Amino acid sequence: MIQKPKGTLDILPEEALLWQYAEGIMRETAEKYGFFETRFPTFESSALFRRGVGSTTDIVQKEMFTMDDRDGNELCLRPEGTACVVRSLIENGLHNEPMPLRLYYITNFFRYEKPQAGRSREFYQFGVEMFGAPTANADATVISIADTVLRKIGISNTLNINSIGCPECRPKYRQALVEYFSAHEEELCPTCRERLKTNPLRILDCKSPICSAIAAECPKTVDYLCEDCETHFTTLKSSLDAMGIEYTVNPKIVRGLDYYVRTVFEFISDDIGAQSTVCGGGRYDGLVEELDGPALCGIGFGLGLTRLVLAMKANAEKGKIVLPEKKTPKLYVAPMGEKAAQYAVALVHKLRLAGIIADCDIVGRSLKAQMKYADKIGAQYALVIGDSELEVGTAQLKNLRDGEKMDIGLADAEKTIIEL
Ligand code: ATP
Ligand code: MG
Repeated sequence: MIQKPKGTLDILPEEALLWQYAEGIMRETAEKYGFFETRFPTFESSALFRRGVGSTTDIVQKEMFTMDDRDGNELCLRPEGTACVVRSLIENGLHNEPMPLRLYYITNFFRYEKPQAGRSREFYQFGVEMFGAPTANADATVISIADTVLRKIGISNTLNINSIGCPECRPKYRQALVEYFSAHEEELCPTCRERLKTNPLRILDCKSPICSAIAAECPKTVDYLCEDCETHFTTLKSSLDAMGIEYTVNPKIVRGLDYYVRTVFEFISDDIGAQSTVCGGGRYDGLVEELDGPALCGIGFGLGLTRLVLAMKANAEKGKIVLPEKKTPKLYVAPMGEKAAQYAVALVHKLRLAGIIADCDIVGRSLKAQMKYADKIGAQYALVIGDSELEVGTAQLKNLRDGEKMDIGLADAEKTIIEL
């Protein structure tokens, strides 16, 4: 038996309903904020992510699904969306559009990770990217999109924010970190010992308990901000206050990607286990230039649907939210005989055209089996039709919920059902 590749997901109909529901709220919310959907290739040049995500990140060092095409180009299944959107923006000249440019996507990404609950090799994100808006209120706006989506779905969460400074103030902070961690070098995990040389900020992101314990006492980015970064962060906090969005300043949030500056944030769900970060994002002012585009600032986030759906299920189990259920047919037509079967298939066709969920037998079941099936699919009404009903031109409509019966004319059955 062939099985799905390790770390991929089968999303079956019942669960897909939850995904559709969440995706609907995401699209609706993004539109309210003036964001439009953008789509980009499933695979890109590996070089895009090496440059656009950063060669010292987990994604580039360990998690890329790379492949060579027949012309010898190194391609990679997209591990994240921001670099893809920026590449597309530059290639299509979107920087000439009126600013701010507001784009969103809901799509799948691929990372070669150790699969566990809330962590898969193919996963899905709702991502938003906003370009050309440098103010703290732009940051507050982007954060409020994720907040709105989580609030509408009913996921309780904690918003963590931090500022990691800019190229002007970060060197000083980096120096302080190197000094602090060098004193603990022997205790750090081998990866973090390497990070100490290449990207000490990344040590704050390490999941090893020993490294996190050491990092708990380390210098804080917010104590090293330059005046502009300080003002930006203060304004962000007061804008969030004004918007009624609660947050915690968490100096440990530095985000996994190289290109972030100033604002970084994460939404942590209170309802799922270890993989509890449902959404992560931040400001990436230098990225467009880094990828050979014009000087254009940006900010965005990625909200993981896999973890979001886990949180939705956990919340539903605790009775905190009600999840959407399968829509059921208004009518099931149970025909007996060939003529009746043709009447039935034509009637449900017309009802479906009119926007009504209707069903009829196309399996060739006995009447008894048909009624059992109608019950199973949760049909509200059943209409039994045989040769004699066709002759007389009336048939009995049964309300399967309360057992009530009524005769209806077959000639205008469609109208009757619609109006019911
Ligand atoms: P983590 O620290 O959990 O590995 P990350 O920093 O790598 O997360 P981002 O690149 O910021 O994650 O992606 C944003 C969101 O996408 C995450 O908060 C999470 O909800 C989701 N996500 C990332 N990687 C995976 C994965 N392998 N499986 C499922 N969801 C994921
Ligand atoms: Mg990761």
